[in-house]
This record gives sequence, structure tokens and C-alpha cells, in this order.
Amino acid sequence: MSWKENKGLAVILLIIALGVIGFAGYKLMPAKFDDTLKCEKCGDVVKMQVSANTKYPTTCPKCKTPTLYQTVVLKCMKCKAADGKPKEVPVIDKHEEGKNPIDTAKCDCGSQLMP
Ligand SMILES: [Zn+2]
Ligand SMILES: [Zn+2]
Repeated sequence: MSWKENKGLAVILLIIALGVIGFAGYKLMPAKFDDTLKCEKCGDVVKMQVSANTKYPTTCPKCKTPTLYQTVVLKCMKCKAADGKPKEVPVIDKHEEGKNPIDTAKCDCGSQLMP
């Protein structure tokens, strides 16, 4: 086998190795997705990229306190948004056992919010 052929083989092996490492790294990386989060303290609603293994509550980018929770977006049948659709209200969901935020969520106008 000539030197040239060896080099070619080494390059191919390197490409395969990089591919395997890249794939393993991709598998190990936690999935990221856009989520709507709401701060219990300052009430700020933020849409941000979160990783699947983020622990809640996480730190609020506005008031810097760890009171940022995931939300469920509910609709008020009385209030209308600017586009004429039912107003969407993000409600804090702490994922507490036996507590469904949908059961008690109320709009500013006082009416029950719907999923
Ligand atoms: Zn905050
Ligand atoms: Zn309302």
C-alpha cells in the first residue's frame, strides 16, 4: 500500500469518527424548544428557548429572582385580543400534584379562563 492510499484511508476514517462523535453529541444534548414562561413575582411573560431538563422555577430575566414558571396559555371568552380572537392569558403552571391551574385560572375581567 502506498503512502497516498494510507492517507486517503486515514481521511475517510477521520470523517467517520467525526460523524460518530457528532451524532453522539447530538443525542446527548438536551432538546431545546420555545416555551412561554411567567414570573410569579413581577408578572413578566417571556417567550424563550428552554432545554428539556430545565428545572423550575428558573431565574426571571427581568427581576433576577428564581420565580419563573412554565405556563399554560388559556383563553378568555369575554375579552378580545386586537385581532378579534379570544384574549390569550398565560397562567403559571407549577406542575403541582393534584393542582390544575386551569381549574382556578381567572382573567383580569373575572371570568373563568378556558383551555
Ligand atoms: Zn420577574
Ligand atoms: Zn377576560
